[in-house]
Amino acid sequence: MNVYGITGWKNAGKTGLMERLVAEFTARGLKVSTVKHAHHRFDIDHPGKDSHRHREAGAREVILSSGVRWAHMGELRGDDEPTLETHLARLAPCDLVLIEGYKGETHPKIEAHRAETGNPLIAPDDPRIRAIASDVSLDGMPVPVLDLDDTTGIADFIAADLAPSPKATLGNDCFALPTGVEWIKTEAALAALRDRLVSVVGDETIATDSALGRVLSSDVVARRSNPPSANSAVDGYGFAHDGAKEQVLELSEGRSAAGAPFDGVVGAGQAVRILTGAMIPMGVDTVVLQEDVVVANGSVTFAAPRKGANCRRAGEDIDAGAVALERGRRVTSQDIAFLTSVGVGQVSVSKPLRVGVLSTGDELAPPEPAQGPSRTYDANRPMLLSLVQAWGCEAVDLGHVDDDRDALKAALDDGATRADVIVTSGGASAGEEDHVSALLSDAGAMHHWRLAIKPGRPLALAQWSGVPVFGLPGNPVAAFVCALVFARPSLAVLGGGAWVEPQGFDVPAAFEKRKKGGRREYLRARIRNGAVEVFKSEGSARISGLSWAEGLVELPEDASTITKGDLVRYVPFSSFGI
Ligand code: AMP
Ligand code: MG
Repeated sequence: MNVYGITGWKNAGKTGLMERLVAEFTARGLKVSTVKHAHHRFDIDHPGKDSHRHREAGAREVILSSGVRWAHMGELRGDDEPTLETHLARLAPCDLVLIEGYKGETHPKIEAHRAETGNPLIAPDDPRIRAIASDVSLDGMPVPVLDLDDTTGIADFIAADLAPSPKATLGNDCFALPTGVEWIKTEAALAALRDRLVSVVGDETIATDSALGRVLSSDVVARRSNPPSANSAVDGYGFAHDGAKEQVLELSEGRSAAGAPFDGVVGAGQAVRILTGAMIPMGVDTVVLQEDVVVANGSVTFAAPRKGANCRRAGEDIDAGAVALERGRRVTSQDIAFLTSVGVGQVSVSKPLRVGVLSTGDELAPPEPAQGPSRTYDANRPMLLSLVQAWGCEAVDLGHVDDDRDALKAALDDGATRADVIVTSGGASAGEEDHVSALLSDAGAMHHWRLAIKPGRPLALAQWSGVPVFGLPGNPVAAFVCALVFARPSLAVLGGGAWVEPQGFDVPAAFEKRKKGGRREYLRARIRNGAVEVFKSEGSARISGLSWAEGLVELPEDASTITKGDLVRYVPFSSFGI
């Protein structure tokens, strides 16, 4: 349900605005309901009414109904008042719920404001206020200021604010191979994906402190400067620098501490005690370290540091109104600290990308109960499900299907309704049992990318009912490498994020190898004693090497002979976001 609030101090024009907005949205054809928070002692029932008598006698809830309207009353009898969420859950589905009051709740709101009331605005301190509707023009506000009488304009603002960001559509040919290409190089494949993929998810507003790992869907602007005012970087004494080196100043009464500023003016010839993080009082432009002064008989003696020393300038980190973080960024713990410090309590983020994972192959079975040697345990599905989760996606287990067209078709149909992207493994080559590629080819919009990469090679990219499908190779080592190299950046973009390039670095090789030309190779690797060693076997069925490794060595397409000590590019798994 769309929920939007009108808030403001007493006599700010809240109810009048509510009334006009309800009428406006109703006239636009929307079904509108409202919730109003009355003042604490307000009573909806009155002595003498029958309902009142029922309640007085002890009824817990009373429903009062007539041919005109009905009401459902609950008696609190000392219990806490129900939350807004509880009340909203009671409402029948509608297009818009407008809420009057409930200032502290997290839904987006417009603040009504009338200058004559003389009340300060709530908006500068409350990040949930999206606009101010005022009867005067106001400068320097952190949010748009609308005309309180312009009901249409305010309704338009609310409608635009609530509108889901349009779900982008992928081009039908987003997976088309560049024409004339038979073997596609990794760089070209990645460039094609980067250019063609777009976000396929909507967005939502959530509390900043629960945004870890989520992707920002719009630029986030600092609501106030950091620091918000000039403050002291040290414990010491603040004074006005007059150019003289030797200072003997009268110690003024009081002090400035963090959270408890000095509220007077420090005059010429005076110094004031000031602590780290405390606001610089009026009249002070320099702070001398407490270790560098002598305090005796009510005066402070010291050699003056340079003018401005030990003072942090207001906004020296970031100014209010500047973009703090850009859209597409995945929120880190550090970002949560940064956004909180600049007053951003809520952020707009992409809804998690739902990634369906499907295994294909007659030979596959779960590891329990134990199977005979002709069966292969389905290792890819739990691997891929956990990988996509690590990348911040919502993993949707689409199970396992045999190499059977109808079963596969049903699984893809199911996946297309439950997921935004489908990742399959197995059956992606062009062999007679490669049903994934055969079925996707028949359905059209399928492209078989013969990647010049080892391990990997066949990658089937297609759309099934408009949902992108990444058909990874069945071999677990190849499935893993292709997931890291191709699926990860693609899923990032589909999920509203920026394209991600794994950061690697050059490390001396602790191994020797002759490499053929023409394809890129990824070797399971790890660093020991400052050199990179590779797994004893390049066999792509050797899954143990995936656990042994801590990263991949990436060898470029050209032929080469690597000898010990040569620099090779090492990409740790952490650079792949795992
Ligand atoms: P395919 O690409 O279907 O020809 O499979 C290539 C190899 O990977 C075969 O040996 C398969 O048994 C194996 N394989 C395919 N899918 C999985 C899976 N989900 N788990 C483990 N091995 C698999
Ligand atoms: Mg197979």
